[in-house]
Parts: sequence; C-alpha cells; structure tokens
Amino acid sequence: MSFAASVLTLYPQMFPGHLAQSLSGRALERADWSLNVVQIRDFAQDRHRSVDDTPAGGGAGMVLKPDILAQAIDHVSPQGDARPRVLLSPRGRPLDQARVRELSSGPGVVLVCGRFEGVDQRVIDGRALEEISVGDYILSGGEPAALLMLDAIVRLLPGVMGNDQSGLSESFENGLLEYPHYTRPKIWEDRSIPDVLLSGNHAEIDKWRLAESTKLTQLRRPDLGFGKKTPPKG
Ligand code: SAH
Repeated sequence: MSFAASVLTLYPQMFPGHLAQSLSGRALERADWSLNVVQIRDFAQDRHRSVDDTPAGGGAGMVLKPDILAQAIDHVSPQGDARPRVLLSPRGRPLDQARVRELSSGPGVVLVCGRFEGVDQRVIDGRALEEISVGDYILSGGEPAALLMLDAIVRLLPGVMGNDQSGLSESFENGLLEYPHYTRPKIWEDRSIPDVLLSGNHAEIDKWRLAESTKLTQLRRPDLGFGKKTPPKG
C-alpha cells in the first residue's frame, strides 16, 4: 500500500501546490503516494457554513470550532486508521528529519491545517492530535506547513529520489550539516575547487568532507549535538 496523505483545510485549492511538480509530482502520478484533500467547511451545518467562533474568555481573532473539525477528522480518519493525526501548530514539537523519516516509513499521515487564532483545545485532546511546528515563526495558516512536511516526507518514499544514497548523506541525517559542494568549471571568478576533490583519492575526499561537515556544524548548529551520533561513512 502506498503512503496515504489526507489534509484537512479551509483552503483546498492550495493543494497539491508545488507537490504536483518534479519528484513528488511524478511520484503522485505513479501513485507512489496519494493525497486526499478535504474541505473542513463541508462539515459545517448552519446556513452560513461557519467554522469558527469568538474565543471563550475574549480576545482577538476567531477559533476553529471543535465539533465541526472533529467531524471532519472522524470522516477522514475513522477509528482504526493507523495513520498519525497531526495538527500543524507553532506550539508543536519542531519538525526534524528523524520524525520525517519515521512518518515516511509509516502508512501515511492526516494533517490538520489550523487557521485564525488556532483550534479549540478540546479537539486537540479529544482526537489525540500530535502538534508539529515547522519553525519558530507564525504563518497565517497550517497549509504551507503541511506542504512543507509532505515535501520532506514524500522525497524519502521508496523510489521517489533518483539516487537513494543521496538521502543518507544529507544534512541532519547524521547530526551533521552537509559539506560544501562544487562542480565544473574548475575555476570560476578566480575561485577554484579544493584540490582534494580533484585528487581522485576517495579516502582523502571522505576525510575532507567529514572535517568540513564537522566544522560547519560546530559553527552554525552546535545544538544538533554532533558527537552523540555516529559520523557518516562517506
Ligand atoms: N495564535 C496562534 C497562531 C495561529 S496561526 C499562536 O500564537 O500560537 C494560524 C494557524 O497557522 C495555526 O493554527 C497553525 O495551524 C498554523 N501555523 C502557524 N505557524 C505555524 C508554524 N510555525 N508551524 C506549524 N503551523 C503553523
């Protein structure tokens, strides 16, 4: 069974967005993964099909109503659905490559896109939504975050990336940022490619790349905790 993504949103026209292009787009055409986009508003019952209401306790903005959202979730992901149910939320656990890899090896994911001030807490608790953040900044809605998450997941699905090896040496996979890349021409604006990369000595090249990765990681992202994990082989 291929990876099944469901997205609950008030803006279904935002999907598949960029996911229709390039690797993820071809994978979608091949049915290596599927995307089911559901309009939350379709579950509203009143004449105006309203999905939000004013916050209890007062304050600015509107809140997504729990009853309507829960109905949409139950419709898309009835009891017994093994897929994790995720709410995109700035309060969530920051998304990292480890969680992306876990999700990509599972049956799929249900993504709930918040809007307005957010969603009623009772639906988060009542439907055991896992809150995931895509960074310490506020988006106007969960949709770009959902697209971003699916992008990161889909490229790891079997057969989606041309060269499966390239996934494993990338930034974050080993607690390290990736080493710098170069390609032809050999000299560009008086800048040359480091000699070692042209030496043909693969042991030396691996050594150089690991040293560059380590240096960059310590400089830019000491929080990645390099040293606790196994360094890459190549
Ligand atoms: N009032 C909220 C922000 C609401 S933004 C707060 O201060 O925490 C509206 C919606 O955009 C959120 O419900 C969420 O679904 C989405 N969103 C905003 N920023 C996000 C982020 N960094 N990661 C994931 N989703 C985000």
